[in-house]
Amino acid sequence: RQQRLRSDPHPRVLTIAGSDSGGGAGIQADLKTCQELGVFGMTALTAVTAQNSLGVQAIFPLSVEAVETQLISVLDDMGADVVKTGMLLESAIIRIVAKTLEDRGIAQLVVDPVLYAKDGSALFRREAIESLKSELLPIASIVTPNIPEACELLELPADTIRTTADMIDAARSLLLLGPQYVLLKGGHLPGESSGSSGSSDAIDVLVGSPASGLHEHLLLRSPRIITRHTHGTGCTLASAIAAFLAQGHTVPAAAGKAKRFVTAAIAEAVPHGRGIGSLWHAA
Ligand code: PLP
Repeated sequence: RQQRLRSDPHPRVLTIAGSDSGGGAGIQADLKTCQELGVFGMTALTAVTAQNSLGVQAIFPLSVEAVETQLISVLDDMGADVVKTGMLLESAIIRIVAKTLEDRGIAQLVVDPVLYAKDGSALFRREAIESLKSELLPIASIVTPNIPEACELLELPADTIRTTADMIDAARSLLLLGPQYVLLKGGHLPGESSGSSGSSDAIDVLVGSPASGLHEHLLLRSPRIITRHTHGTGCTLASAIAAFLAQGHTVPAAAGKAKRFVTAAIAEAVPHGRGIGSLWHAA
């Protein structure tokens, strides 16, 4: 197991993800989140994307060797309290990530199963889904899909998950793939009305394996913010969970705190560039 060194008092998070040149998602969002939450962020890049507020213009994958070497450099010297994965692109990368983390006994792993950018561009190769399910989810402390990603992982038609009850069923099915917790994000649903105000909530569902001790599902609610500017919210949420775990919080506490953090970030989001954002809400 990785030991925290006495000379190394800061909680450390390693993020394994793609670069978003526009600075809103990917590695850039992860590092900004770590910095904001007072955690030391480290990176292993899997791909470089050329993108901006208009969309993804190009993806340049890194070699498996480049990913593995970055992981070894960081983990064998500095170590990490929590590892977070984002865009992994292909099964060869997923396999080397899973093997390297297992060999080093990484105790806490947050898996954001990044599949699509908000403009709809695929950030993965189709063959990667099987490896994500068989290699990475079984060693994950928590996996944080949105609804389209949950449907892909469960091989369900895209519109199968329509209500919070459907989300609870889907989250429980995802648990069978082996993670300790599943946080299924409801941002893509229209939202349920909260009480007499008639305003709607963005509801995420947290479920845990029997070993986690969380027997009932938890609903994490926040007021729904109507905006088109949600690029990077998935990355930010997963990194915030990783940061709070590194600070010693439990998974349910880290998920609740991360949800509040990303809701505040969406409320303060400032548009950049000529793009108009997307209608999908991803928090
Ligand atoms: N990772 C990278 C490198 C990306 O470019 C994107 C989106 O464009 C994502 C992850 C996913 O972003 P989001 O947090 O908006 O789901």
